[in-house]
Order: sequence, then structure tokens, then C-alpha cells
Amino acid sequence: MNIAFIGLGNMGGKMAQNLLKAGLKITGFDLSEVAIQHFTEAGGISCESPQAAAKDADIVITMLPAAKHVKDVYLGENGVLSVLKAGSLCIDSSTIDPQSIKDIAAVGAEKGIKICDAPVSGGTIGAQVGTLTFMVGSDDAVFEQAKTVLQHMGKNIVHCGDVGAGQIAKICNNLILGISMAAVAEGMALGAKLGIDPQALAGVVNSSSGRCWSSDVCNPWPGISANAPAGRGYTDGFATQLMLKDIGLAIEAAGQAKQPILLGGLVQQMYQQLCMQGNAQLDFSSIIQQYLPKEN
Ligand code: NAD
Repeated sequence: MNIAFIGLGNMGGKMAQNLLKAGLKITGFDLSEVAIQHFTEAGGISCESPQAAAKDADIVITMLPAAKHVKDVYLGENGVLSVLKAGSLCIDSSTIDPQSIKDIAAVGAEKGIKICDAPVSGGTIGAQVGTLTFMVGSDDAVFEQAKTVLQHMGKNIVHCGDVGAGQIAKICNNLILGISMAAVAEGMALGAKLGIDPQALAGVVNSSSGRCWSSDVCNPWPGISANAPAGRGYTDGFATQLMLKDIGLAIEAAGQAKQPILLGGLVQQMYQQLCMQGNAQLDFSSIIQQYLPKEN
């Protein structure tokens, strides 16, 4: 089985390394020389273009920044769909809007090429240690085939529905997460201002109806959740700019579907402000800073 991996950045580079560790032969392409260097050092075969990487591939995996890059790699001048043979499988693990992958899959279907979306959660650590969750959008047969490869890079491979359903699951989950983190930050900051010990407040919330992942596992108040980014200056977490991107995708999809998105619009502005203040790389739980007095 020949696999081509396109987009070997922070996530893709580590995912490709897990495929190489599993003994699979991987050809790869990335625009970044540093990314290619890490890939070849790990045993990957570097190619000059997406088409060169994909021409003999049975399976293509893409892990790219945004929809425009994904469209370019599949449908553009050097696009892989024009060189792949009928029956091959493409798995896009980038986080993009659901409609774009449906459009690409429709072009693939005309050529007999199977395409599924399989965005991930678990971040760069999950990519490194091979414990990602994949949210797959495809029919049953494609899901079973994709799973044989994805299992080398992830722990949970979830079939969400037809093409696009993986992206829908991803952006709705992150919309909820972005809102719940802001809610916990607001409540924690208010409690502290009113005079309750934040530890006592978190103890009550986490054994009451306010409990959620943002209050329990990743509380934005420093020192509440073991190993949370709040305890290390909000570093090494899920970057605010990535949360902002995902909420933007949810809002875009909501616009296409003519569905109201009220709280999402509000927190989008809050994360936007945080990025503008120079905190784009900090974990998104640093949103609590919008509620705390600034040190002079
Ligand atoms: P990244 O910027 O580190 O990597 C993307 C790579 O794609 C880069 O190396 C870039 O050079 C390459 N690239 C761009 N255009 C290309 C093209 N036309 N052909 C070939 N290569 C091209 O980004 P990342 O952090 O690896 O994220 C990738 C995707 O995964 C994004 O969609 C992101 O939203 C999603 N994601 C990231 C995380 C995370 O924690 N980083 C978590 C979940 C999902």
C-alpha cells in the first residue's frame, strides 16, 4: 500500500511519523523545507509536488491549514485528483468548512476516487503519541478502509455520517468548547472579585450543574486543574488563533444554513480581541484575562 501525505506541519509531520513507525511507505510533500527535512529524517520519501507524491498512491492524506489550501492540493494546477487512479482513497484531516469537502468529494466521485473528511482533536501531543480522535465523514465501506490507516495515528476513530459530517462534528464541538470556556472564565472571575476562594468555587462548580470540561479539566483559573495551561502561563495548549479559526468556520456554516449563532458571535469577538492583544499563540483559556484587572 502506497500512502502520500501532503501537509507535514505541526500536526501532519507527527502523524506521518507514526505511519512511518508502523512500517508504511510514505511519499510526502510540503511547501516548507523544514517540514520536509523532519519527514525525510524519519524515513519519508520527499517529492517535488502534490502530484508527484500522489501519482502511485493508493491513499492520500492531507493535513493543511485551511480550505483554500485543501482545494488547491486536490483541484488546483498540481492537484492530486488529476493523477490518482480510480478506486484510490483520499482522507482530508484538515479543519475546514463542511461544504468545501463535499464539493471536492463530488469531483472525486466523477473520477471514481473516494474522498472522506477526518478532522481531528487531540492537538500536537495527540498527534505525536498517536492518540488523536478522528471524526470521519464517509459511507460505511470508505470508513472501514480509512480506519485501517487512521488507527496508526489515533485512538478513537468515530464514524459521524456522510461526507462533511466529520467537519460538522468538529466545528460544533469547538463552538461549544469556545463558549463554555468563556462562561467558566466569567464565572470564576466574578466569584474571585466577590471574594470566594477560587479553589472553593471550582470545587462547588465541579460537583454541581456548572461542571464541564472547561471547569474541570482545563479550568482557566491558575492552579485549579492539574496540568492545565493556566498553570504554566497559558502555554502549550490549544492556541487562541486556532479556536478563533474554528468558531469562524461554525459561524460561516451557520450563515450558509441560515441558522442563528448568537453566543458564537460574541465569543468570536472576545477571542479576536485576545489575538489582537498579542495572545494568539496562548491557550484559549487565557480568555479569562479579559475579565481580570491589568497589572500596571
Ligand atoms: P501547520 O501550519 O503547522 O501545518 C500546515 C502545513 O501545510 C505547513 O507545513 C504548510 O507548509 C503546509 N502547506 C500549506 N499549503 C500547502 C500546499 N499547498 N501544499 C503542501 N503543503 C502545504 O498547521 P497544523 O497545526 O499542522 O494544522 C493543520 C490542520 O489541523 C489545520 O486545519 C488545523 O486547524 C488542524 N488542527 C490543528 C490542531 C493543532 O493543535 N495544531 C489541532 C486540531 C486540528
